[in-house]
Amino acid sequence: MNLHPKERKQKHYIALQKEFNHRSRMKWNATSVPLKKPIRYGWKKFFSLRADISNRPDASSIRLALSYINNTVYSRNADFHYRARKQTKVKNPSLRSLSVKEWEDLPSQCKKYFVRCTPGLCNDCHKQKIKSEPRYHWRNIYWFVYKVEPHYLTHYREVDSENESRLNKIMNQLDRGGWAVLSKIKGRRYRWEPGYDDSIIFLRQKIAEDEMIRELNATKFNLY
Ligand SMILES: [Zn+2]
Repeated sequence: MNLHPKERKQKHYIALQKEFNHRSRMKWNATSVPLKKPIRYGWKKFFSLRADISNRPDASSIRLALSYINNTVYSRNADFHYRARKQTKVKNPSLRSLSVKEWEDLPSQCKKYFVRCTPGLCNDCHKQKIKSEPRYHWRNIYWFVYKVEPHYLTHYREVDSENESRLNKIMNQLDRGGWAVLSKIKGRRYRWEPGYDDSIIFLRQKIAEDEMIRELNATKFNLY
C-alpha cells in the first residue's frame, strides 16, 4: 500500500506513542521490592486535624472521614516550592470530593461531615470541569491544617535496562516533532511560540502519565 508521506509519518508516531504507553506501564508496574532500611528522601505534606478539632469527642470519626479524601504531595525541599511558567509556587495538597456512590459507601458516622453540591452551581466542580453529577464536599475546610513530615522511601522498583533505553529512544523521537504531530491528530491546540514549551511537557504528561499516575496511586507506590 502506498501511503502519502504525511500519513506515513502520522502512523509512525501513533505506533510510537502506543509503544511508549505500553513500555511506561511496564516500567511503573515493575516489581516493587521492600528496602531493608527506609531511606530518607524529601518531605511530604498532607491534611491533619487542627489542634482544637482533635480534642472534639467525635475526632476519631473526623479522622476516619479525612482518610477518604486526604491527599499527599511530595517535595525535595521543605518549603515545597516549584517553578511554573517563570513563577515560584507552593505545592499544596487538596481535598478530594466524593461521588454519590463513594459517599454512600462511607461508614455512617462519616457521612454528616460532607455537603452535597448542586451541579452547575458549584465552584469546586466547575474548576474541575465536572458539570452533570452532584458531588459531596467536605463541609468545613478550616478544621484541617497542613502537616509536613520527612518522607521515607520504603520500596524500590526493579529497573529493566532494555526497556529503559528503548523508552529513552522513543522519547527522543517524539520530542523531535512527534508530540506536535500527535496533538494535531488529537485536535489539541499546539503552539510553537517561545514560552509555550510548557505545552510539550503538558501534552506528554497528558498522553502518557494520566494512566501511570492512576496506577501509581492505586498501588500506593512511592512517587519517588
Ligand atoms: Zn461540587
